[in-house]
Amino acid sequence: MPELPEVETVKNELLPHVIGRCVTDIDLIWDGIVRFPSVEEFRSRLLGQTITELTRRGKYLIFGLTSGDLLIIHLKISGSLLLRPASTQNERFIRAILFLDNETGIFFRDPRKFGMMRLVEDANSIVAKLGPEPLEPDFTPEVLAQRLANRTAPIKALLLDQTRIAGIGNMYADEALFAARIHSLRLGKSLSLEEIERLHRAIQQVLWAGINNKGASVDSYFRPNGTQGTAHFEFQVAHRRGQTCPVCGTPLQRILVRNRGTYLCPNCQPEP
Ligand SMILES: [Zn+2]
Repeated sequence: MPELPEVETVKNELLPHVIGRCVTDIDLIWDGIVRFPSVEEFRSRLLGQTITELTRRGKYLIFGLTSGDLLIIHLKISGSLLLRPASTQNERFIRAILFLDNETGIFFRDPRKFGMMRLVEDANSIVAKLGPEPLEPDFTPEVLAQRLANRTAPIKALLLDQTRIAGIGNMYADEALFAARIHSLRLGKSLSLEEIERLHRAIQQVLWAGINNKGASVDSYFRPNGTQGTAHFEFQVAHRRGQTCPVCGTPLQRILVRNRGTYLCPNCQPEP
């Protein structure tokens, strides 16, 4: 599932190709991918608009348009945005194509059909409830401590809660907790200040590594040019089923935390 580093990579790599480009045609192969407004209104309001801006907030991509409308895309579980020549033959799993005025198109590939597009006047209806951006300077250890204070949920679940911190998903939560040597089932309120500082550092470190490696392609994530990211090759615990801890050699464990598959080292991350 694309998380902050994957969505940031998509944004960075689309940016130079889409800014100043006009949407000349829209092919909705599966129109369920448009969640708001109606398909007809989506089409008529988007057609002919020039893309003036592309930003990321949490796991959302936000395209600014000349009309002032915003096209908001969420890749959810299995989405990718591929930048291809407009003449590319349609293939399986392409749900929508936004054609641009430079003979290219943004091809929304989404095998599992959870991805979505919305066209709105104000992004706040969607992104205002998100927690702070973990790579912004205002995300300090104090802010993290505040977000975890008095919480009786497992730390892993708190990290996945987008209203608490934006952009972290299953893979990078496991990686951050391993890097900080904190067990995923520790309660938020049980973390010491020193552990929170360690976790804060670990979150930023694993997210930056993910971005520098252009995201992790453990399942169906592709970069806009169709290649895979390499961040998963550096994962220490996430998705390393049946392997041993790279630090101490103990067999890694897979447990469920609120129904999410969770990888950890039972020796480096002592049980609560
Ligand atoms: Zn270990």
